[in-house]
Amino acid sequence: MALDLADPTALAASINPPTRAVIGGRSVESASGQTFATLNPATGRELAQIAECDAEDVNRAVIAARRAFESGPWGRLAPADRKRLILRFASLVEAHADELAIIETLEAGKPISDCSGLDVPDLVTTLRWHAEAADKLYDQLSPSGPGRVGMVVREPIGVVGAVLPWNYPLMMAGWKIGPILAAGNTCIVKPAEQTSMSTIRIAELAIEAGIPDGVFNVVPGFGETAGAAIGLHSDVDCVAFTGSTEVGRHFLRYSADSNLKEVLLECGGKSPVIVMADADDLDAAAIGICEGIFWNGGQNCSANSRLIVQQSVADELLERIAERSHDWVVGDPLVAETTVGAMIEEDHLDKVLGHIAAAHEAGSTCAVGGKRVRQESGGWFVEPTVFTNVDPSSRLARDEVFGPVLAVTAFDTPEEAIRLANDTDYGLAATIHTTDLRTAHLASRAIRAGTVAVNCYGEGDITTPFGGFKQSGFGGRDKSIAAHEQYTELKTIWMDLS
Ligand code: NAD
Repeated sequence: MALDLADPTALAASINPPTRAVIGGRSVESASGQTFATLNPATGRELAQIAECDAEDVNRAVIAARRAFESGPWGRLAPADRKRLILRFASLVEAHADELAIIETLEAGKPISDCSGLDVPDLVTTLRWHAEAADKLYDQLSPSGPGRVGMVVREPIGVVGAVLPWNYPLMMAGWKIGPILAAGNTCIVKPAEQTSMSTIRIAELAIEAGIPDGVFNVVPGFGETAGAAIGLHSDVDCVAFTGSTEVGRHFLRYSADSNLKEVLLECGGKSPVIVMADADDLDAAAIGICEGIFWNGGQNCSANSRLIVQQSVADELLERIAERSHDWVVGDPLVAETTVGAMIEEDHLDKVLGHIAAAHEAGSTCAVGGKRVRQESGGWFVEPTVFTNVDPSSRLARDEVFGPVLAVTAFDTPEEAIRLANDTDYGLAATIHTTDLRTAHLASRAIRAGTVAVNCYGEGDITTPFGGFKQSGFGGRDKSIAAHEQYTELKTIWMDLS
């Protein structure tokens, strides 16, 4: 469907929601015939009924994926042919960009400007980047000397389950399926139950692009049923999970209780942003800090949710953050000017408001926002919020809120800043603002996090690995060649020629 984003609201009304599972190259109802409702977070109203897959559907999808891997054409394709098909898939995604952006906005409550300007383009870039890698990676010969040949080769790992979150549905799908498919595997994707439709739609486009039946399956459903069935299935070789640390732990148990499948976890965060007194542009820092916590309504694993600011510049910086927070417009996600959409669901809204209430009780000062807004819409919106005087041991400083709520703590010495930054169970991302080269280098090394940004808010790009230290991750990385390699097994082929 070719759409024109000039009038997103009218276009949203014309979308035909994709609601069925995709198994073995076909669009199907769930085996049980059950469905579940998916809601629009901006209105609280039902968008569609989605096929509710459970263990039986997962089993069907695993059989289809195994067949496609073992005996179907996918496993036998030359890397260049695999590349060609994934590139065609990426072009079809690009051609349907407006439709996908609208679906994403409707089911995730994300601003249309983000969905069309960031999320869908990121998916296209990711697919293309990994497709291009498919026929450019070489295996190795071991330095074992004459008379022996040691070949160290990488082979696809096999059938991969991908269990996804709701906060960046298409982006997270791309970070998994790009390298999974490019490395020659087949997959079963379970989108988050709140956001099934965009993933179903791209699986349909993959089939249209000629990706063989059974290579890319989608089983919408709930975590405790469909998600657990993937984790526990003995014919799944690897599970790639993005979501909360709490659920990530389940996947390690599932693996231990089944076939010791590989487990790759990308989990939560409580990322710090440090501002040293020597940071020369406090306004630029304030812009980056607001982006780091208010982008996607703070529903971002790498949200810079803790501001650790040197005492001598704290008041000035906070003044600028308060000003810049007004640049973040809470509104109808289908309106182009909106930059903060809705919280994903009512329970999540309550959780975020609970954190705000707890911060008040703990004696922190609410310097910006702090309330639910747009209640009349029926949707679940929270305004950009900043708390100062946050005790590092309080809930707001320690728990992942996953909402637009910044916790501010002041420090005196650089050593104290690093100690505060590392005083967390998480280690996904961090930012430091300083003009001192030495401080920038030393702090980047001292902070225990998968990505450290200097003088900007950023996660790198498709060429850089993304993942977490400590309880933010386990076993691997998304993006870059590191992601490609983690979906392969390393094999030694040894020949003694003597
Ligand atoms: P979640 O853990 O609740 O759910 C993630 C997925 O796991 C969903 O598909 C869900 O259905 C499934 N699931 C839930 N319970 C399950 C169970 N018992 N067994 C098997 N599967 C189960 O996470 P969420 O609320 O969708 O997403 C938010 C979380 O994701 C945050 O913690 C965020 O930090 C994290 N996240 C991390 C990254 C990263 O790259 N590190 C990126 C995005 C989101």
